[in-house]
Amino acid sequence: FQDIRIYNEPIPQYLPGSNEIKDLQKALKHYENNCEDIPIVINGKEIREGQETFQVMPHNKNHKLAKYYYADNATIEEAIRVSVQKQKEWDKTPLKKRIEIWERAADLMAKKYRAELLATTMLGQSKTVIQAEIDSGAELIDFTRMNAGYLKNLAMEQPLSPQPGITKNHLRIRGLEGFVAAITPFNFTAIGGNLAFTPALMGCSVLWKPSDTAMLSNWTVFKIMREAGVPDGVVNFVPAIGKNFGDAITNSPDLAGINFTGSTATFKTLWKLVGNKIDQYKNYPRLIGECGGKNFHFIHPSANVETAVAQTIRSAFEYGGQKCSACSRLYVPESLWESQFKGPLIKKTKNLKVGDVREVDSFYSAVIDENSFQRILGFINEAKEDPDCTILTGGNLSNLKGFFVEPTIVQVKNPNKRVITDEIFGPVLSVYVYKDSDLAKALDLVRSTTQYALTGSVFATDEPFLKQALNEFKDAAGNFYINDKSTGAVVGQQPFGGARQSGTNDKAGCPFYLMRFASLQAVKETF
Ligand code: GLU
Repeated sequence: FQDIRIYNEPIPQYLPGSNEIKDLQKALKHYENNCEDIPIVINGKEIREGQETFQVMPHNKNHKLAKYYYADNATIEEAIRVSVQKQKEWDKTPLKKRIEIWERAADLMAKKYRAELLATTMLGQSKTVIQAEIDSGAELIDFTRMNAGYLKNLAMEQPLSPQPGITKNHLRIRGLEGFVAAITPFNFTAIGGNLAFTPALMGCSVLWKPSDTAMLSNWTVFKIMREAGVPDGVVNFVPAIGKNFGDAITNSPDLAGINFTGSTATFKTLWKLVGNKIDQYKNYPRLIGECGGKNFHFIHPSANVETAVAQTIRSAFEYGGQKCSACSRLYVPESLWESQFKGPLIKKTKNLKVGDVREVDSFYSAVIDENSFQRILGFINEAKEDPDCTILTGGNLSNLKGFFVEPTIVQVKNPNKRVITDEIFGPVLSVYVYKDSDLAKALDLVRSTTQYALTGSVFATDEPFLKQALNEFKDAAGNFYINDKSTGAVVGQQPFGGARQSGTNDKAGCPFYLMRFASLQAVKETF
């Protein structure tokens, strides 16, 4: 790859009275008043058949936002057949043409459909304006434009060392033969777009199974890519019941890859399915997964407390803690905890407003669905009953109108309690106070407490300690932050992904990611 100077999409301010707010309000009104009828799309054909299902608004659960259909097995198989056939021809499309389509799509997202992308993400996935913008606005546009930019810098024929006068060698790059299944999450519209369309950019064909709870925003992305010129059949939009989809794709000998973001448990299930059927595939399927996390903020005695408190609250509670990268375990030294940290942390957390996505002062809104609500409730109830746990603030939930959970902070005496070791995926922050004299033990605890290694942050001003932390936490987080929150990775600036049980660490948002969807041929020419 050459020197890559590609800049990130600027984020509008959304000030009251601004044009972007007016456009957004119009779009919100439209989607609130019209229940969109979302088809399955195979080879450009819109299919409205199969089990009917509805996407509701998490903050107003009786409001139906969109109707969609689960593809049955025959439909999924048809999508596979079309994709496999289409891939051969699509892979031959000149790079220049592909890049033009993706750049056009980025422009459409930025200039024509930004309000639609934001509104569908806000209403369907319960994001506030700014959280929707950094996802379905800026990040989605960045993935689309910057991946095309990376591709521009990649010659599909890479020169290799010659044997002068005897041989000339080069590497040829092509898309994966067969089809890629993109299985995408609810929490980022941008991740859906990236997982489904980046393999396509590289010459693969794709079956996209969007998340049930992100259907409307994902459909909006699909339509924009189609308008930009992605040909029929290259990406097929296939809502389906997870188990049926997983079984069908792994049964096909043409499975070329699974591009997945979601739970660790589901990724392992898919991996086992592939493993059990490994003899049947034409190629070894590429398995790319971004899974769970239990991300830490580690506060050193030298930390700037004000920064650490503010960033911890943002990381733990923005979008109700439903980012894979959210901080959910906090380690604070005794010397700072009672005297400086605890008071502001609780006070500022209590002041966060949990409300409707349309209210400008809402810090976050509902969690995504009943399952999620019940899982979070389970963790909070367990903590309430445990003498080793103290609820410092929050702990109340209501699922009457929507799925609302107060921002909750739990202090644990025992650092191995489930609330501080297991992923909760909600607005629950666990705190462990360590003795300053036990710093080394505390660092060890951070590294060894969980099976995950997604994100983590260290807050300190002591330079030698920061150097030590860089070493000690090398394998504890795929994305590591110094004096900043553990969320908010920016495409091209902090490529995102975790190791250990958090995923295959393929780093979405950088040139290397593209190579996961490429197959290489070394060509030797002898004179
Ligand atoms: N890239 C996002 C961040 O850094 C998180 C993505 C995710 O939740 O999967 O906050």
